[in-house]
Amino acid sequence: MKQLQGIAASRGVGIGPVFQFRRAELKIESVCVDDVTKELDRFQSAIEVARQQIQEVYNKAKQESSSAQAEIFSAQLLMLDDPEFMGQIRDFIQENNANAESALSKVSQSFTDMLRAMDNEYFAARALDIQDVTNRLLRVLLGVAESPTEGLLQPSVICADDLTPSDTTLLDKRLVIGFCTAFGSATSHTAILARGLGLPAVSGVGKAALDMANGALIILDGNNGTVYIDPEESLVTTFQKRMDAVAVVRKEAFKHAHEPAITLDGKRFEVSSNIGNVEGARKALENGAEGVGLLRTEFLYLERQSLPSEEEQYQAYKQILDLYKEKPVILRTLDVGGDKELPYLEMPEEMNPFLGQRAIRLCFAHPELFKTQLKAALRAGEGNNLWVMFPMVAAAGEVRQARQVLNECIAELKAAGQSYADTARIGIMVEIPSAAVNADQLSKEVDFFSIGTNDLSQYTMAADRTNSLVADLSNAFHPAVLRLIRQTIQSAHARGKWVGMCGELAGEPLAIPVLIGLGLDEFSVNPPMVPFVKQIIRGLNAEEMKSIAQEALELESPEEIKALVKERVAVANIEI
Ligand code: PEP
Ligand code: MG
Repeated sequence: MKQLQGIAASRGVGIGPVFQFRRAELKIESVCVDDVTKELDRFQSAIEVARQQIQEVYNKAKQESSSAQAEIFSAQLLMLDDPEFMGQIRDFIQENNANAESALSKVSQSFTDMLRAMDNEYFAARALDIQDVTNRLLRVLLGVAESPTEGLLQPSVICADDLTPSDTTLLDKRLVIGFCTAFGSATSHTAILARGLGLPAVSGVGKAALDMANGALIILDGNNGTVYIDPEESLVTTFQKRMDAVAVVRKEAFKHAHEPAITLDGKRFEVSSNIGNVEGARKALENGAEGVGLLRTEFLYLERQSLPSEEEQYQAYKQILDLYKEKPVILRTLDVGGDKELPYLEMPEEMNPFLGQRAIRLCFAHPELFKTQLKAALRAGEGNNLWVMFPMVAAAGEVRQARQVLNECIAELKAAGQSYADTARIGIMVEIPSAAVNADQLSKEVDFFSIGTNDLSQYTMAADRTNSLVADLSNAFHPAVLRLIRQTIQSAHARGKWVGMCGELAGEPLAIPVLIGLGLDEFSVNPPMVPFVKQIIRGLNAEEMKSIAQEALELESPEEIKALVKERVAVANIEI
């Protein structure tokens, strides 16, 4: 048996075979062919295979996703018959005795270069379409498996270098036992995805994660960040028993999932959910969420080749808001940049994208994009309980600027005779240290705060949240981060403003007593955690937690703080 140590990224235990997730590399060689006619036939056959594949994806997209997604593939089908594009490839083969792969990649490159040079979002998106079709044809010609998940036929632990949001859309979640990644940290997107699905994950294991043989049995301990390869029978039994014990706790927590979270001394705390799509919204409600504490709207923007229209966004937001009716839904405006790129949007090349034009900064640079989203949100909020939240706010002026754009949207909707939510509450994420330090000033500008500890930790500790080498530092249990949280809550409460938390810290059993002691109003956690967080809160005395929190904030390290809570608060030791 071998053992690897990584970072505990999502709690739980998974036992199963390894599945190595790899993005296939397309290696193109230029070869001089003897028989040009044969090469042209080969190219034609590849077109027919690609046509069949795209037709299947089109049918699937039409059934499962939006019509806009399906349209991408119908445009790609047309491209296969485009006389200009395909004609040039055939000419290239004929004139140069070239193999189909090199002709295809050269012609495609000249088309995409030309489109990109037009410096226009529409043409940039078309370039991406051409690239997509080209890659598909190349895969067919080179005999490379279509998707990195081909061969994933049984429930497995997915091992990869790290997973991007786009990789994860390719995964059939029913076949995923958990995730084990070479890189990444506890707040990287793999971790957030795993928590959202209630699956265990270990990140930052190092390259050894990629060396495990496909099919090898492993135990993934998401609570301690340990991976056991080819474990002994007795260890499997031990972990299986642990899983059984967790199932008992889980059953109990789920029994009371729809009851409020009231402490032993009678104080009620809101427990909401972080969601990223309609499916998550439903799951959260089933698990007893009292609202949406964070709607990550990126889901509408990623994995596509053009911006979503106002109508498409309106429909998607409305579906979620209608589900929640009078329950609050905090809709966060677009947060891309950093490690989330939109291929169809001109984004600057930056040395430090996490410190660059991300989130609200990017929205200010693209006012039309921003206004389209705000209008869709305001329209969907009509008759529902919409709260609008701006991410990555660093200064009070940004809130005023965002409000001004919002007011312009309201005026335009009004002029167009459209109905909209005129009572939406306006708030910001507190996830940049300057916002926490100046929370007294910022609280004058908003109705509420929601603390984003994932970013607040990385920016406070100057430790990239996606970098496993500095994962120890990018830790929300650090007293520096907790002190900023205290300051934020105190400043907001002094003005009678509400403070929630949607960062991952809100779902940490050992953090909940401290956050209750600091007076946090709401805990927004991933759907599977809602019943557990409520259960823990019910076992606490809010008044007693005040002194524990003050003591904790005098300590010097995350380890000392966790040890203090572990020792003093029995219910926080819950094994989940
Ligand atoms: C955060 O930063 O804590 C947060 C909730 O936002 P995200 O993880 O989407 O950056
Ligand atoms: Mg954030």
